Amino acid sequence: NNNTNRANSVAKIKVVVRKRPLNKKEIAKKEDDIITIEPNSNALTVHETKLKVDLTEYVERHEFVFDAVLHENVSNDAVYAETVKPVVPLIFQKTKATCFAYGQTGSGKTYTMQPLPLRASQDMLRLIQNTYRNQGFQLFLSFFEIYGGKLYDLLSDRRSLCMREDGKKQVCIVGLQEYKVNDAETIKDLIEKGSATRSTGTTGANEESSRSHAILQLVIKRSADGSESKPPRVVGKLSFIDLAGSERGADTTDNDKQTRMEGAEINKSLLALKECIRALDNDQNHIPFRGSKLTEVLRDSFVGNSRTIMISCVSPNSGSCEHTLNTLRYADRVK
Ligand code: ADP
Ligand code: MG
Repeated sequence: NNNTNRANSVAKIKVVVRKRPLNKKEIAKKEDDIITIEPNSNALTVHETKLKVDLTEYVERHEFVFDAVLHENVSNDAVYAETVKPVVPLIFQKTKATCFAYGQTGSGKTYTMQPLPLRASQDMLRLIQNTYRNQGFQLFLSFFEIYGGKLYDLLSDRRSLCMREDGKKQVCIVGLQEYKVNDAETIKDLIEKGSATRSTGTTGANEESSRSHAILQLVIKRSADGSESKPPRVVGKLSFIDLAGSERGADTTDNDKQTRMEGAEINKSLLALKECIRALDNDQNHIPFRGSKLTEVLRDSFVGNSRTIMISCVSPNSGSCEHTLNTLRYADRVK
């Protein structure tokens, strides 16, 4: 299995599913929880109710196996320990790691993603201050979004950004604000500021954020000679991507032209992402970055020493069955 790098035991690609609890509305509507997870297992079963031709109901069971399956009572701390924490030390050893949250709107992507960068940066700061003390390592943070195929800085009032590639095929986002961070409090403020900018767009909170990919990057840099006199160089990078709602990729036949175009863009980017991760897993030389803005931006995170973590979020209610199966099938293809 080429999925495991022998140099260290952190898998190159890890696919995890997280189920959220039924919410009050779903309970009030007496919706069933259709996802069962056996204790201490990495498998889950979706119980889909279907109709026979004579209109009697029957249940079809769909079983899926992933690297880990997190049930509805698993804490964010446990999610961090299972997903991102093991890759943090690798970032100091020239690794670029990316953690995605995938799923339909309301499945828990933001709930899952929001706390992870703060925990990761706290662990990074600890490494800088202890293990790598006085070795010139520095931590930088940036936060932007891709909306309708365009880039916007979430830490400077949604300023429009553009991407270019330098001679060494390094991706550079022109004008992106990068903050040097030394303490958890500042990091927390920046994450909150960026998240607030993301969800208070012109067309209203959830609507807007479900149509954009939010990308928070923690970059470890180091001065060439270990001192702070020369401009530091990138050592490694950890990216957190709160993807657009996967159901939005289906908005390609909507009556509204804008909605249709955005849906097509989202569909394109989620397909391109899947293709890139699959190419990575097969150690292919050609990774199809060009498929979308999202994969182009992540280009340098897909080449060389990379790690990919996919957290697929699913809603447990019967009304979400179709979307849940779509999400699990997507995750299954990435695995
Ligand atoms: P998404 O970003 O995928 O649209 P959210 O993260 O906004 O979804 O989650 C939708 C709602 O469900 C929010 O109110 C959130 O607090 C809640 N929620 C999501 N996941 C969990 C969970 N694992 N435990 C408790 N509440 C959750
Ligand atoms: Mg969200």
